[in-house]
Formats: sequence, C-alpha cells, structure tokens
Amino acid sequence: MQTFKTIHDLRNYLDDLRANGKSIGFVPTMGALHEGHLSLIREAKEENDVVVCSIFVNPIQFNNSSDLEKYPRTIETDMQLLIQEDCDVLFFPDEKEMYPVPSTEQYDFGDLDKVMEGEHRPGHFNGVAVVVKKLFEIVEPQRAYFGLKDYQQMVIVHKLTKDYNIPVEIVPCSIVREENGLAMSSRNERLSLTERTQAALIYQTLKMVKIKSGFATITEVKEFVVKQFRKQKNMKLEYFEIVDMYSLQPLRTWAQSTTVIACIAVWVGNVRLIDNIILFS
Ligand code: AMP
Repeated sequence: MQTFKTIHDLRNYLDDLRANGKSIGFVPTMGALHEGHLSLIREAKEENDVVVCSIFVNPIQFNNSSDLEKYPRTIETDMQLLIQEDCDVLFFPDEKEMYPVPSTEQYDFGDLDKVMEGEHRPGHFNGVAVVVKKLFEIVEPQRAYFGLKDYQQMVIVHKLTKDYNIPVEIVPCSIVREENGLAMSSRNERLSLTERTQAALIYQTLKMVKIKSGFATITEVKEFVVKQFRKQKNMKLEYFEIVDMYSLQPLRTWAQSTTVIACIAVWVGNVRLIDNIILFS
C-alpha cells in the first residue's frame, strides 16, 4: 500500500494512474477502522482498478470539543487492516495540509440539514461538506463509497456533488453490525462492555419500529420509542424521526411518502450513537 501525507504527492501518483486509464474508488474515513469501513473498501475493490482510503479526523465537523479530543486514533492498526484488505493507497494528511488557512466556506443544503444530525450538531454538515469537497477535488475518484449508517450525511454529500457538478458516483453501502445488532462505529470503542450490551436496544427498537409501522400510526410508533428509552438509566434518546428518504423531512402520516426511513440518535453513557432502518422504499 502506498501511503501519502501530502496532497502534492498523492496527486502526482494518482495522475499517472489516471493517465493509464485506471478507475479510482475512494473511501473517506476518520480512522479507527472496523468491519463497517472495511466493507466499503471491499466494495470499492470490486468496482475499481485502484482504491484510495483517506484517514483524517476532521476537526471542523465536530461541534463538541470533548468528542473531538476523545475520538479514537489507531493509525498503526488501521494501516495493518488496510494492507490486509489490499487497499492500494492511503491518504493520511495532517490538519495543516488540509487547512493551511481556516475554512470560511458556507454551504446551503436547504432543509436537508435542518433536521436530525443537522439540528442537533450545528455546523456538523458544513464541516463534512468542506472536507468531502476538498477530498473529492484532491482524489478525483470515479466512485466514492459511503455507509448507510450515516444516512443523512450520504444524502447531503450526494446533493453536494450535484450542486457543484462533481463527477463522482456516490455508492451507498449497507450497515455492518455487531452480533448483537449494534451498528459498528468507531465510537463503540468508548463504550464499556455493559454499555455495548445495553446499546443493542437501539437496533432492537428499530426492528420493532419496522414491524409496528405496518400496524400503528407514526405518533404511536414515536411514543413506543420514547417509552423504550425512558426506562433505561444509562441511555438517553436524543431524537427519533420518521422521514422521507430523499427530502429527509419528518412525516406525520404514512400516506405522505412511499420511501420512508426511521433515524435515531441515543446517548449511551457519554457516547452518542446513531442508527437507522429503512421502513419502505
Ligand atoms: P467515519 O470514519 O465514521 O467517518 O466513517 C467513514 C465511512 O464509513 C462513512 O461513509 C460511514 O457511513 C461508513 N461507516 C461507518 N460505520 C459503518 C457501518 N457500521 N457500516 C457501514 N458503513 C459504515
């Protein structure tokens, strides 16, 4: 695996490959890699000649300084995992390389970032858009792989590519879960063993939501979810929304949309976790 820390060296390397007609698949990450990330690498390997993975903990997408500080950083293990997956290129820039001057860019995503993660993490998606656009301009991939776990992020990144005519195909990838159903996340490393077990309730609840969605009203389903977490001492529901998959706007009745996803954010101890389940599509 080729590893680059500077934009200049990475560009030189990729320009040569592109000149030789090679297709480039890109997997942007913040590291602390797990099976979820590796599934993206595998999918990218299948569909492209060359796979580039980036690892950059993007400070401007964190709205909480303690979350940024505590974000796991495991670069040595990450590199071993990428080598095992036969990843071709790792881009691992530092903050100065990505932000030689502080970013002042402001993006407008309409209503897409006024709900859920956007509402609860002010500035988060602007920070995501700044770094993803920069990375797309550096790597110039044909395809970029994003996990459905961060569903709202994927929709917003897709809009970004349309708004700025960035010629990249956004490839959505399935959520990879632990045996107990908990969606894999770098933040899971900060959970105690007991908390990991407790956190399984998130997906259990989402599966119940899917079953109930055939029988109960949206209000009833929401009440069920609130009750599920009210009983838990160490867990706090931040939001649960049933939204249209494309507009991301909350629904009041099932009749309002035929493409529906339920999204959730829950605090387990002092770790914030997100997950979702597609109800109708
Ligand atoms: P992150 O390092 O958390 O920024 O994630 C990098 C990419 O991996 C994003 O596209 C995420 O949606 C994706 N990802 C993270 N966790 C999972 C998972 N459990 N299953 C599938 N994709 C994931």
